[in-house]
Amino acid sequence: MQTDGDDIEGAGWFGKGPEAAPVATGRVVEVALERGIDRVLDYAVPPGFDGKVAVGVRVKVPLGRGNTPASGYVTALTDRGPGPKTKSVLEVDDKRVLIPADLLWLARWIGDYYFCPLGTVLGSVIPAAVKKQTGMKRRWMVRLAGGGGLEAVSPLLATMRAGAAKRLGQRLLGLEKKWHLLDGELMGEEGGEGRGGGGGEGGEVSSATLLTAAKALVKKGVAELSKQDETEADVKPVRHKPALGDVGAMNEGVELNPQQREAVERLGTSLRGGFSVSLLLGVTGSGKTEVYLRLIEQVVAAGKQAIVLVPEISLTPQTVRRFTTRFPNVAVLHSGLTDTQRHQQWQAIGRGVANVVIGARSAIFAPVPNLGLVVVDEEHETTYKQDQAPRYHARDVAIMRAQKAGAGVVLGSATPSLESYQKASSGVKGWHLIHLTERARKQPMPKIELVDMKDPLVRKRGGIQLISPRLEVALKGTLAAGKQAIILLNRRGYSNFVYCARCKQPVHCKYCDVTLTYHRGPNEQADALVGGTLQCHYCLGQQTLKPNCEVCSSKLVLFGLGTQRVEEELTSKFPDLKFARVDSDTMRTSRDYEERLSEFSAGRLQVLLGTQMLAKGHDFPGVTLVGVISADTALSLPDFRSGERTFSLLTQVAGRAGRGDDTGTVVVQTFNPEEPVIQSALSHDYVTFADDELQTRQRVGHPPFGRMVRFIIRDQELPAAQRLGADVADLVHAAAKEYGDTIQVIGPHPCAINRIAGYHRQSVELRGPDSRPIQTMLRALRGQPLLQRHESVVVDVDPVNLL
Ligand code: ADP
Ligand code: ZN
Ligand code: ZN
Repeated sequence: MQTDGDDIEGAGWFGKGPEAAPVATGRVVEVALERGIDRVLDYAVPPGFDGKVAVGVRVKVPLGRGNTPASGYVTALTDRGPGPKTKSVLEVDDKRVLIPADLLWLARWIGDYYFCPLGTVLGSVIPAAVKKQTGMKRRWMVRLAGGGGLEAVSPLLATMRAGAAKRLGQRLLGLEKKWHLLDGELMGEEGGEGRGGGGGEGGEVSSATLLTAAKALVKKGVAELSKQDETEADVKPVRHKPALGDVGAMNEGVELNPQQREAVERLGTSLRGGFSVSLLLGVTGSGKTEVYLRLIEQVVAAGKQAIVLVPEISLTPQTVRRFTTRFPNVAVLHSGLTDTQRHQQWQAIGRGVANVVIGARSAIFAPVPNLGLVVVDEEHETTYKQDQAPRYHARDVAIMRAQKAGAGVVLGSATPSLESYQKASSGVKGWHLIHLTERARKQPMPKIELVDMKDPLVRKRGGIQLISPRLEVALKGTLAAGKQAIILLNRRGYSNFVYCARCKQPVHCKYCDVTLTYHRGPNEQADALVGGTLQCHYCLGQQTLKPNCEVCSSKLVLFGLGTQRVEEELTSKFPDLKFARVDSDTMRTSRDYEERLSEFSAGRLQVLLGTQMLAKGHDFPGVTLVGVISADTALSLPDFRSGERTFSLLTQVAGRAGRGDDTGTVVVQTFNPEEPVIQSALSHDYVTFADDELQTRQRVGHPPFGRMVRFIIRDQELPAAQRLGADVADLVHAAAKEYGDTIQVIGPHPCAINRIAGYHRQSVELRGPDSRPIQTMLRALRGQPLLQRHESVVVDVDPVNLL
């Protein structure tokens, strides 16, 4: 990435707030260490560090008896002087202020709320590429000699042979008379359009060629060359394919329908009023993105920036393009960026160059200087919760950040989390509910049919049929009409249950309390059971499948299902079908995934078969059939949200059908057709589902009516795990006493999956109707050494994963 050679007093990276004022030497600063020590430490600013140490700067400080250098961030300036034992800052690691004041505030909130050391939070707020200063180096800069103009330089240039040097000279003539970074762009090359047009490395001319060319120009007296620190001026604007015309013109193609128009009006009013949270509950295909775009337009027109969060899996070129064709400066923070690109984007965002930032969870930390709006698309997605420290929920962080900035938040979904729906529908202060009840062009919602897999008619054709006769007929009809289908089974592999018929035992993972899943090998014969692997989906361990039981040597039987098995059945029932399997086994990189999606989009594939990856957000107008092989995969999980997840997955995947001009059909296979959750998904009626589910939750005090904190305790030895679990429970029990009924402590008990990767797991839960007493109590527990053993005790506030 680009560098910034300036000292802080020259140009603070994020401008100069009072906090960014340089510290006088001799004072004490507070430093949060990345190493996860749960308090800030005092360090003195030694002589010679004037103007270099400020809040938000990354420093190296001595730690412990051995004074080992450790990295951390200055989080506060004090007016205290050093005591006799105060150590001094060793060095300033990076001259830039990496954490602007608002992000520091946010990091503190995350650290407090999610029970995580501030240094750990900061460590994940700042991308690794920025910390490592990737791409920051002294770079060659070139300019016309003597500030020379056409008259002086043209004749010299005319004498040169055609080639890179001459081209470079001509290029410089056409540019502003100043220092230019010597890179491919100078030669007029557009950066290759990166994934989604996010960034893109320089062009075809190698830097060696460029340097030779520039040196030739220097020799001729045409140019001057100098190696300089990169400066602010070098920050490349975020590039993408040029927008087709201006923003206004881009909208002409789409006229908002009345519901969208009303939504934009109401949301716009909220936006202008400062902080608010609006839940945009819009059925699948209702055109939520169009609403976001209009709001972002208002934000950009007001000179502010918008952050758009989408689930990682939805961050496809197709999604990104919807934004880049409307707005000139979109920064896309996707996992495919190189470190240099990531650093570049971060810096460009920090300078306000990007109007719109799109990214997954961590994009909520994008350092936009003037936040106007955060959109959280598909806000119900569980991937917004990070499953390692800091265990933050990006939606909740977004709300905090927006509140502090006086910005608006729009949460969008066809199946919102019950947490958000409850707040928006019950009129919590600052929350609004906006409903889009129809599809954008009034297309009918797809018709959902249930197939009861217990029905003897379905079963009688011998063996297990994964594709019911009804689904088979529907698929035939779809293909005959030249349309496309999506087939969902939210389970990868061939069979998730490998079973010995004699001992009646399934094969378990040696290290986890789960059954192994059989994955068929590429050239494996259907009945031979050789060459495939048994995989554990928790510890990711693999072993070769032996066809016979280890205990009794009987033949093993495959039971249960997986996408590979559906693939096999599809191939045998539809030999000529052009289809692809899309799951994390076949989609090794994001490129694989994008290629399959675009082949499907172009009609070169008739069917996509896969896991929940396929259920998300896609807009393929050719899809008229969606088949769900089993609606039951999530139902039996021991998690109070399993109903909500099932409803959401069914509704989302059903929503892929019938988005074009032809009505969609959805065939849902299930062994539990009478299950209320499945029944309610039939009618696309989120509100009825949610209201029922909320009543149940209220009765038992589950979120959103109660708050939860989970302590997960793990050890390789069961007795040690149990002891530690009991210790944590004792500690928490004692602390909870003074809160009476407002906090309950449950456990210790073994986790639903009581062993993962060789670790026995125990859990202790806190529950209570209100988060405040729980938070107060957690604060009081903060210094407890037992809870500092991060290897063995994890604290998860508002947990999403309960297994
Ligand atoms: P959602 O995110 O609510 O599922 P999308 O934003 O993907 O829906 O919109 C569904 C489709 O409808 C997209 O192809 C979009 O371009 C189109 N669309 C959205 N609004 C309109 C409109 N007002 N008129 C016509 N088409 C629209
Ligand atoms: Zn056996
Ligand atoms: Zn395992």
